[in-house]
Amino acid sequence: MLVIFDIDGTLCRTSQLDDDCWRLAAREVLGIESMSTDWNDYPHSTDESIASHLLKQARGVEAGREDIDELRDRFVAILEEAHESAPDRMKQTPGASEFITRLVSEGYGVAIATGGWTASARFKLDCCGIEHRSIPSAFACDAHPRSEIIEIARSRTLESGIGITDDTDVVYIGDGLWDLTAARNLGIGFVGIASGDRELLLREAGANHVFPDFLGQDDLFVALSESLI
Ligand SMILES: [Mg+2]
Repeated sequence: MLVIFDIDGTLCRTSQLDDDCWRLAAREVLGIESMSTDWNDYPHSTDESIASHLLKQARGVEAGREDIDELRDRFVAILEEAHESAPDRMKQTPGASEFITRLVSEGYGVAIATGGWTASARFKLDCCGIEHRSIPSAFACDAHPRSEIIEIARSRTLESGIGITDDTDVVYIGDGLWDLTAARNLGIGFVGIASGDRELLLREAGANHVFPDFLGQDDLFVALSESLI
């Protein structure tokens, strides 16, 4: 089995910080005083797509590469500044590293597919103490739809030669409705990491397996298998 992880709200407790950085970047670069950080409101819940959407909204024309890069670079700088002033704001979800280690030791494939840009995603993983350099990954720079980013992460895992094949079952682990939707569109399994309102949203949308964190490893392994049924 190949287990593919989302980052924000899944491996890392960074969703609130991510929202705050987006608001600041949109205000500074585009003059947008209030933007929605409910990513269900956007065509895709991925940074490159969100940036294109906001740029078009603010300037009335299709965004160019340079404009997107400017917004991305400011977003990443704001994130780095936020970390410098309050290092405790980024934490890994309890048990995340240990769960990845156990998956690998039991022969599972592990990959990352995030709606975040490469630079900010890798920075968050570093800050949260999650070893990721050896994990095949795909980012917002690779595609707009999350389902395509997941598919690219799967292809990169296949190319990495760690033993999965085209027939290997795939499960996506995420925290948002958009993650569940992407998994359904691809016909792969889904396991949620969420609590409170976000857990309710996932369960109401039909997610059967939702956990607050990665501490219940045995239950998570059962959920991975059952999510494919
Ligand atoms: Mg997320």
